[in-house]
Amino acid sequence: MTSIVDTHCHLADSRLAPELDAVLARAAAAGVSQIVSVGAIGPIDNDRRTVEIAERHPHVFAAVGVHPHDAAECAPDRIGELRQLASSAKVVAIGESGLDFHYLRSPAEDQERALREHLALAAELAKPIVIHCRDAEERLAAIVREAGLPPAGGVIHCFTGDARAASAFLELGFFISFSGILTFKNAAKLREAARIVPEDRVMVETDAPYLAPEPFRGKRNEPAFVRRTLAVLAEARGDEVERLAAATSANASRLFRLPA
Ligand SMILES: [Zn+2]
Ligand SMILES: [Zn+2]
Repeated sequence: MTSIVDTHCHLADSRLAPELDAVLARAAAAGVSQIVSVGAIGPIDNDRRTVEIAERHPHVFAAVGVHPHDAAECAPDRIGELRQLASSAKVVAIGESGLDFHYLRSPAEDQERALREHLALAAELAKPIVIHCRDAEERLAAIVREAGLPPAGGVIHCFTGDARAASAFLELGFFISFSGILTFKNAAKLREAARIVPEDRVMVETDAPYLAPEPFRGKRNEPAFVRRTLAVLAEARGDEVERLAAATSANASRLFRLPA
């Protein structure tokens, strides 16, 4: 069984953190060799706990940022705190940042401002950016086109757009990561988009505890389930599972500069 990387989940979440050792043991048993855990949701404390978890567990790495839902809270001192947290050797990316015009929990202008600040921070720290994008593909591509992708690159996590949006992001230099949404019955369009992503730009993730893949849809998600998304991705692309496992892992290692 080729090992794989869960490139995006939230281990500090209260649905995972209390039984973290068991969650990590199940991930290891499922061949998930490395995990990128993202803070970003809610207060800065979540980023802090995410970095602590990564520092305690050799196979866990961290990303710090302010989720677009919370962009209204992204004041200049918050960026300073992120910069400080990112000095940990276990912080491999900045994010998730981006635009979520589906829920619009923060006003669009706050989301755009925070996104530009995260792009600048990622460039300054020579780290890749993790992007969250929901119903805002064109606007997001326009901002990155103007501000520039950070030199260390970036990933559109939990991609939910169509093939056209995927092409635009690929052209900008992004990796594209697929979550359990890919396995949902009504995601035929997404599976179509998954076919056009080159083998050297595709990744998989759980976004746990959210978005459990079929047949666990609606239940609490965890990193061990990333294999289900990988299997559906392989089927959609007409790829062999083990070969795609190797490719997605190599891509994650390259983007996040994970140790071998
Ligand atoms: Zn997200
Ligand atoms: Zn997330």
